[in-house]
Amino acid sequence: MNAYREDIEKYIKSRRGLIVRDVVNLCGIDSSKLPAEEGAPFGPGALKGLEEYADLMRESGLTVKTYDNYMMSGDLFGENDKKLDIIVHIDVVKGGSGWTVTSPFSPVLKDGMIYARGASDNKGPAVAALYAVKAVKELGIPVKHNVRIIAGTDEETDFIDIKHYHNTEEEAEFTIAPDLKYPVTNVEKGQFRGEIFKDFDADPESALLYIKGGIATNMVPAGAESALRGISADAAEAAAKRASERTGIVFDISQVQDVLTIKAVGTGAHCARCRDGNNAVTALMELICSFDLKENEQIKALRQLSALFPYGDHDGDALGIALRDEKAGDTTMSLDILDIGPSSLYAKFDSRTSLLMTKENTIDVIRDRLAENGMRFEYEFDEPHAVPEDYPLIQKCFGIYEEVTGKKGYCQSIGISSYAHFTERGIAFGAEPEGMDTNMHGPDEYVSVDALIDTAVMIAMLIADVCA
Ligand SMILES: [Zn+2]
Repeated sequence: MNAYREDIEKYIKSRRGLIVRDVVNLCGIDSSKLPAEEGAPFGPGALKGLEEYADLMRESGLTVKTYDNYMMSGDLFGENDKKLDIIVHIDVVKGGSGWTVTSPFSPVLKDGMIYARGASDNKGPAVAALYAVKAVKELGIPVKHNVRIIAGTDEETDFIDIKHYHNTEEEAEFTIAPDLKYPVTNVEKGQFRGEIFKDFDADPESALLYIKGGIATNMVPAGAESALRGISADAAEAAAKRASERTGIVFDISQVQDVLTIKAVGTGAHCARCRDGNNAVTALMELICSFDLKENEQIKALRQLSALFPYGDHDGDALGIALRDEKAGDTTMSLDILDIGPSSLYAKFDSRTSLLMTKENTIDVIRDRLAENGMRFEYEFDEPHAVPEDYPLIQKCFGIYEEVTGKKGYCQSIGISSYAHFTERGIAFGAEPEGMDTNMHGPDEYVSVDALIDTAVMIAMLIADVCA
């Protein structure tokens, strides 16, 4: 039993209205990334959000330091005492469409929930962390070591902010990022993205005019489109019907003179959860390969790519890179962008890798398979991140989580990255409650005020323990 729990709970609960006020104010700022401007490396919105948050840190009695406006930190005391870092982010993804409760940057409080872009990811937890530090300070809880809040503005895109921060700063002994799901995430898969290129001589008589699909590297493509000529519409319709029954992809075929346009509609999903999506690109490739086509270099390239990335292959089995481990699970593979024209092929995949992944068993294998098919390959790769379950910080988080929520602590793995990925020993602790989907990145994103209060209480208890 944490000696300060009751005092902390009383303190945080009595600040409920202030917490709501601060989250609402912060969420009213569109802090999505824009092109850099002077002094604003991720654009004016991200900087405005960061400055607003820095003001809150100052009001909470923290000493604020800026890292060229990529990130800002707030120290309780002694910036060189690196005991506990809490890393949050103030940038958000774009507002997007489909909102019903409010518009993305007009926060509303409804039935104990704040609806706004960033409410849950990650401005709500960022404010909760602030009130946690404030509680420790104002309650006079005896701490001998510093706690530092670090707020970033490039979490949703490239993590350039934390890389910049680490140019001049060491990580603390303990680091949490309250930016995933409770209880604790200690394993984040490797991130491996590859681009595939092939050029060939154009065949003026080719049946395939183009095939293209996908909008983002990290999203299973929900849409793809192709135009062909000299193909029987009846035969195409019949093949599309069979493919549709097998895959669930909807194919819409229209004809103008001798050109058939085929639109494929599947289901988008984050590539880390590619099994939740339904890939329109790989399904459309397979459909076209089933047509009776005059063979040429372009069609050959299409068939080769389709064989390496067949519809329904979510783990890179056809490429020969399928791997699975106990902690992170399996390597996922998703072909997310495709563009084949008369004389070139371009494709991009996003893979989240098992802890067993090495250069030899994955990157080299793919490079060889593609080279056999005359394809060129470029890639970027971030190592997986894994912290052992018996690490003392994790055990402390479990204890606090169990005490405050009554639920059992456990570790989980994920295919996306939090800031913890860019530290040696960091973990994600919270802040989305188990069993609650707060629509991060989607329409009607929200955060539960009760959950924020729990988060603030738990972080304050953690500070009281770790920094004592
Ligand atoms: Zn986030």
